[in-house]
Amino acid sequence: MGRLFAIEIIYRGIFQKTLAKNISRAIVLAAHAEGKPGISFGRYGDSPERNGIPAKNFAIVATDDQTLEEGMAKYEPKEVDVTIAVDDTLCKGVESWAWYGLQPVNKLLKPGGALIVTSREQLQTLIEMAHRKEHPYQLAIVKGTVSFSGLWVYKDDHTDVRILGTIARLLPDLFSLESVQKVIMGEWKDPVKTASAAKAYERTTTTTVLPDQGNPETPYKFDLPKWHEMGDGIAIPSIPAGHSIEDPATHAIGGFRPDRNPTFKKFTTRTMRPVVNFDTCIKCTLCWLQCPDSCFDVTPDELYDANMQACCGCGVCEAVCPVKDCVTMVNEAEFRDNSSQWEMWKNDKPGYEKWLKEKIAVHPERSHGFRYRGQYEEQIPEMLEVAREG
Ligand code: SF4
Ligand code: SF4
Repeated sequence: MGRLFAIEIIYRGIFQKTLAKNISRAIVLAAHAEGKPGISFGRYGDSPERNGIPAKNFAIVATDDQTLEEGMAKYEPKEVDVTIAVDDTLCKGVESWAWYGLQPVNKLLKPGGALIVTSREQLQTLIEMAHRKEHPYQLAIVKGTVSFSGLWVYKDDHTDVRILGTIARLLPDLFSLESVQKVIMGEWKDPVKTASAAKAYERTTTTTVLPDQGNPETPYKFDLPKWHEMGDGIAIPSIPAGHSIEDPATHAIGGFRPDRNPTFKKFTTRTMRPVVNFDTCIKCTLCWLQCPDSCFDVTPDELYDANMQACCGCGVCEAVCPVKDCVTMVNEAEFRDNSSQWEMWKNDKPGYEKWLKEKIAVHPERSHGFRYRGQYEEQIPEMLEVAREG
């Protein structure tokens, strides 16, 4: 029996689809250069992808064909040697739109396996974001601005090859840096990219994350239904007609706060969240009307509180708000919980004002979209500079 290697790439649907595909394909090619058969594929349930919703690609490699066949006889691997998260905010958890419940980013990692994250954050920040794991695991950061692009336009900022160089360092039995460089020259014919892979290889360091480190919350759990309990189709039941959730603020039934599915949250789709300045809000209702996910709770004093369990971070509320700086999208990595901003404001207005200013001041630009011609040409040199500085 040979050895099986499994690697998963967790990415933001659409924005990082090409990036994830490039990484998983190149993993298989680099292993193949050393005589190991392999295959890369996307998780079935993630397709068709949705903007920003977490999705997965896998690369499965073996030392021989038979072991590969055995490894492939599963819907998806049950455990992986390496997990790659190409956006650091994915460390807060991963919820596919096909819905498997909220899963910790490190869920599939084998004991001692490696989590590789693209980020400009400190190690400690990422450790705190990720859920605790029963066994120790290794954490490595590929330092750099998170790479987002469109479905048809690829931002070639070397994130792909830097991750390949990091894998070569962390899992030398899978492939060597030389094999990675051979594949880069075959696929991209770019010696600068081979240099980026080598630099990432040299710079790779890991930190062991222990079982008592990380987010102590228990992620959502559920029991899979037995075959004889299933209905005619597979469906996530909606809230039964007539049932309403008590509004914790007013204790009214229904009304201000829209009914939401209590088990299907959308917050792991978010890489940014809106921060609302309740002191300047003119109660125009535009954010409430335009939010595509009905995220705004109407408060008893008729303000609009974006519900952080439901918000997917699309930025529409910021775009439609007519008051300057009343709604500001801030990097999701700046937050540790999903609590109500309005309650925080109501309980301590000077404290909220200070918090709001701090959050808005530190937020680095994060943009999913391709907004104008020449955008990537402007951004890539800066991204490569950050990568060079490490
Ligand atoms: S970013 Fe704003 S508009 Fe978009 S889902 Fe969140 S609250 Fe709604
Ligand atoms: S769009 Fe802006 S001003 Fe209007 S209700 Fe929402 S937060 Fe207030």
